[in-house]
Amino acid sequence: MAAPFVDTAKITVRSGNGGNGVVSFHREKYVANGGPDGGDGGRGGNIVVEVNDHMSTLMDFRYKRKYVAGNGADGAGKRCTGRDGEDLILRVPRGTVIRDAGTQEIIRDMSEDTSFVLCRGGRGGWGNKHFATPTRQVPRFAKAGLPGESRDVVLELKLLADVGLVGFPNVGKSTLLSVVSRAQPKIANYHFTTLFPNLGVVFVEEGVSFVMADIPGIIEGAAEGAGLGHDFLRHIDRCRLLIHVVDVSGSEGRDPVADFEAINAELAQYSPELAGRKMIVAANKVDIMEDSAPLEALRAHVEGLGLELFEISAAAHQGTRELVRKAAAELAQLPPVVVYEPTYVERPPEVDTRGEVDIQEFDGTWVIDAPWLQRLIANVNFGDYESRNWFDQKLRQSGLFDKLEELGIKDGDIVSMYDLEFEYQR
Ligand code: GDP
Ligand code: MG
Repeated sequence: MAAPFVDTAKITVRSGNGGNGVVSFHREKYVANGGPDGGDGGRGGNIVVEVNDHMSTLMDFRYKRKYVAGNGADGAGKRCTGRDGEDLILRVPRGTVIRDAGTQEIIRDMSEDTSFVLCRGGRGGWGNKHFATPTRQVPRFAKAGLPGESRDVVLELKLLADVGLVGFPNVGKSTLLSVVSRAQPKIANYHFTTLFPNLGVVFVEEGVSFVMADIPGIIEGAAEGAGLGHDFLRHIDRCRLLIHVVDVSGSEGRDPVADFEAINAELAQYSPELAGRKMIVAANKVDIMEDSAPLEALRAHVEGLGLELFEISAAAHQGTRELVRKAAAELAQLPPVVVYEPTYVERPPEVDTRGEVDIQEFDGTWVIDAPWLQRLIANVNFGDYESRNWFDQKLRQSGLFDKLEELGIKDGDIVSMYDLEFEYQR
């Protein structure tokens, strides 16, 4: 049995930590009192997401769920900067929507070619070479690198197609796709043939083409208890036009009007919005139709709803050109394929500021180190007023300034934490 089609996955990603800066002093024979030459830590690797058009499922993510980028290396003496951590590239099929696993908000829709940095690596710490000033010639401190970030995300594949084929199993959807495009979907005379959505590009004429998707599983699962249910319907969310394929041959004893309504009911149940999506009806297998009454009943029904019906034989390539031209004409009137806008709102993380703090003083510079402070600083966007405010508040709440006062900090002294330095003012 073929591997299952996988179109959602929950994964954890983590960017790399920044490397630490180091304390070092230039040493050379016969040269006394060399200056500070401790290099910076390297940047932590990013988690980068890219579209790969050779992928059509999220299968890989089912078997590997944790993705960690490389850490930056520590700096070294002689002004050597540590190597940056290696970025980790996550390759996803086009149309993958990345959501926050907690809130389900959309972080990014990977529909376009631009790559996306999902997690930024921690910045490297500065080596002591940066901290020499006229009044501070022997900086005996360097900064630790900042930690990377970790997040849980859900990947959800929502195919990018202009036209979605819907209909009962075995009515000829895959055959139609194979006839009007170069796609080669599995075709077989039994139900459950299509377990993967198939995409094909339909060339209509010079300069006019569209993408058609053969969407499995509407009834396959729901009605026959195969457990696919509505899972596959997410793939028609973005289709601008639906072609509803109905078998009118009577060869399987089907009632076209009942079939047509059953599928529409499934669509409506999944999404009321989908039920109102533009639809064309393709009455298929007319080549083996013995009685035209069911076809005429379907035509009356469909036209009564204000929809157009095309008689076709996908297998005999009959009427398929007309159908395809009609689809292209409809598409020209419809808005482009939806690309989902991000809804994710950045929120400050919970940072418990009660933990240990290490404070060291070097000639009026107070170097502060604390695991919670690392997390705090890594999460501040200093270009953003609200973010800076949040940082300020947290710092005050933590009691850090009271401790510094107790230790004798004076106005004008320097407070130095990670890649941040500021003058202390009471
Ligand atoms: P799907 O499940 O809707 O994708 O249906 P398929 O495309 O796999 O077709 C199911 C069966 O119907 C296959 O045996 C096809 O060869 C057959 N079929 C599809 N279209 C036609 C048609 O226009 N005429 C005839 N006679 N058979 C067809
Ligand atoms: Mg099929």
